[in-house]
Amino acid sequence: MTDSRSPGPVDRFGRRFRNLRVSLTAACNYACTYCVPDGKRLLRADRELDADQMLRAIELLVEGGGIERLRLTGGEPLVTPKFAYLFPRIMSLGLEDVSLTTNGQLLGPKVPLLVSSGLKRINISLDTLNPTAFRKLARGGDLRTVLAAIDRCLEAGLKVKLNMVPVRTGNRDQIVPMLRYAQQRGIELRYIELMRMGHLSHSAAFDRDFLGMEEILELIGDETSFERTDAPFDSTARRFALADGGVFGIIPNESEPFCSACTRLRLSSEGMLYGCLSSSAHQAFRPLLELPKDEALARLPALLEDTLKAKQPVAFTGGAMVMKFIGG
Ligand code: SAM
Repeated sequence: MTDSRSPGPVDRFGRRFRNLRVSLTAACNYACTYCVPDGKRLLRADRELDADQMLRAIELLVEGGGIERLRLTGGEPLVTPKFAYLFPRIMSLGLEDVSLTTNGQLLGPKVPLLVSSGLKRINISLDTLNPTAFRKLARGGDLRTVLAAIDRCLEAGLKVKLNMVPVRTGNRDQIVPMLRYAQQRGIELRYIELMRMGHLSHSAAFDRDFLGMEEILELIGDETSFERTDAPFDSTARRFALADGGVFGIIPNESEPFCSACTRLRLSSEGMLYGCLSSSAHQAFRPLLELPKDEALARLPALLEDTLKAKQPVAFTGGAMVMKFIGG
């Protein structure tokens, strides 16, 4: 980061924003059971920022908001034409790290663009290796296409992480097979504990389907041995080294909340800033995009301070927000 960039505000717990998650679009080609209710794809928002507005927003946050690392997400970031325009431009902003989270469905043909723009690592969401369970959980897409895209990323030299959301009634039997699949390919698998978001926030389905860190570790421990390893301070994942090679992680939103070290800021596709995944409190960023740059930068600290206030002190309590809108 260059000296002219501002570190941004700090809250009473010493937290500041370092990581920006940008939801390029709320549209998605899946309708995962734990993300959206009843298979509804939740219509595409018609007030989304266009590609230039989004780039301007990101540039302002990098210059005046202390952002050092950025992740593109959604919805599904690869369904929007904004992606091809924005991606190389974001890669040239001089950030410490840029990464991408995708369901992999449209990924294969985009691998050359990602690599030539300088991407080093990618997170691909995959909940099961069973085609029937895949169709039931994702309610869209095709498993073989995702597996082929994963191979293509590996062949191109990208570091791949896989994100799996364990769901008791959906993929409990896949916890170990997914780990073996990842291990064989030198991929780090990360189990993301189910979050109480959107339709799961006050629902019996959450209690039925939640499958936490303890049980995940027990299932793995029945097959192989592992030990906990260190993870960076503001990492959300607890990481474990397998005795027979490789590393896996668990993102324990419920079992071991990591709110006290959270450095994430989210920009939604509609131009709203969110300081906490568990709070629907947000600030409109769009008005700043219409101002001359100096004026926008002068108003940014107050806006970010208000956004930072939404962060919860202790634990993730869930909320009405749907992940695909706020940017998972
Ligand atoms: N479409 C992209 C993808 O599938 O990776 C990016 C957006 S998606 C919302 C990001 C991640 O959030 C996915 O790994 C998805 O499984 C996860 N996710 C969505 N709803 C969730 C929930 N209620 N609890 C835990 N993870 C969730």
